[in-house]
Amino acid sequence: MTDVRDDFPILRTSVDGEPPVYLDNAATTQKPARVLDAIVDHYATATANIGRSHHALARRATERYERARAAVQAALGAAHPEEIVFTGGTTDGINLLADTFGRERVGAGDEVVVCGMEHNSNLLPWRRLCERAGARLTVVPVDERGRTDRADFAAALGPRTRLAAVAHVSNVLGTVNPVREMIRDAHRAGVPVVVDGAQAVPHAPVDVRDLDADFYCFSAHKVYGPTGVGVLYGRRDLLAGLPPYRVGGGTVKGVARDEPVAYVPAPARLEAGTPDVAGAVGLAAALGYVADLGWDAVREHDAELVHRAVTALRKVPGARVVGAPEETPSGIVSFVIEGVHPYDVGGHLDRHGVAVRCGVHCASTFLDDLGLLGTVRLSFAVYNTVEEVDRAVDLLHSVRPGVWTAEHPTTRFL
Ligand code: PMP
Repeated sequence: MTDVRDDFPILRTSVDGEPPVYLDNAATTQKPARVLDAIVDHYATATANIGRSHHALARRATERYERARAAVQAALGAAHPEEIVFTGGTTDGINLLADTFGRERVGAGDEVVVCGMEHNSNLLPWRRLCERAGARLTVVPVDERGRTDRADFAAALGPRTRLAAVAHVSNVLGTVNPVREMIRDAHRAGVPVVVDGAQAVPHAPVDVRDLDADFYCFSAHKVYGPTGVGVLYGRRDLLAGLPPYRVGGGTVKGVARDEPVAYVPAPARLEAGTPDVAGAVGLAAALGYVADLGWDAVREHDAELVHRAVTALRKVPGARVVGAPEETPSGIVSFVIEGVHPYDVGGHLDRHGVAVRCGVHCASTFLDDLGLLGTVRLSFAVYNTVEEVDRAVDLLHSVRPGVWTAEHPTTRFL
């Protein structure tokens, strides 16, 4: 990996006099100047509402928004630009699907299949859907290393299974699900699959046609883009059949007082209201940024940092790496330290200028399955260095039980 640190203005700032050591990239990534510039340029030169007003600036804004859609289409290998719906993020995209596709497909006595490692954002929309419909949520168990066995997934697909929703990459352990094969198994059983790609898109090229995904969701902010915008990819024939989600401006052909409402086709049908145009432009810039770095370089870098962290953690007394992050490196290493609450570990690192996430990572049912109160998670991005990994792990040698261990030993935080 070439040195990209200069691309990220935040790395020139300081936290308590030191450059930030930011190892919380699975939560959100920092933004390169190219993305920030694209957003500022959009507001500075093309601010207007899209698709509505009949003037030159509106045409310019619309053109940039649609160019961003085409850039996402190309990055995901989608067949058509209409298969790209801009959303507010992964959570928003999955809720959209649960409330449209799910609501139409899932009825009393039916089943929805998810994996044991799901983030709440790919669990709760389906759980609520099942509760409302009188359907059953089937959770495919994970093994002791936090992996989904493909045979277990296939076995969970029954005659009443109406859809499956699976993480591509676990945000807790970095485990990569064999989604291509899982989708093949699901399709053989006539089951469409929603993929939560929030943690996959930043770490590997994703080709939705190669995966044969029916739906694929991700968030811009986890792949060097802005917050508040994301993508729902949907196969054209499936999107075409979806009812409107939120209704309002931009979704209709016309409205008359006493006639049924005629909606426009997807994607506009699913993008009610003024979308985050600058966000979409920023996302396109972010995807271009990563593509220019080269996926081989990104993946090598991830593997190097994961290996470095796992190797160093082995020498920390009481530390145990959870899962098997080196099997399929995706920039995430989760660990626990015997006798020390994850929040005391996170607090210690924070006091020394190192940002990590600790807790249940919005996946408490997965942590239950693993028999853990929580973990400490190091998550890497292209600007992280082996020196930063060493610094974080070195600090663990001086970590001691603190107030969390003493006073809240079983308290969990999301
Ligand atoms: N799924 C996974 C696997 C995630 O890691 C996250 C973010 N932590 C989400 C879904 C939700 O993403 P967002 O908050 O951007 O909607």
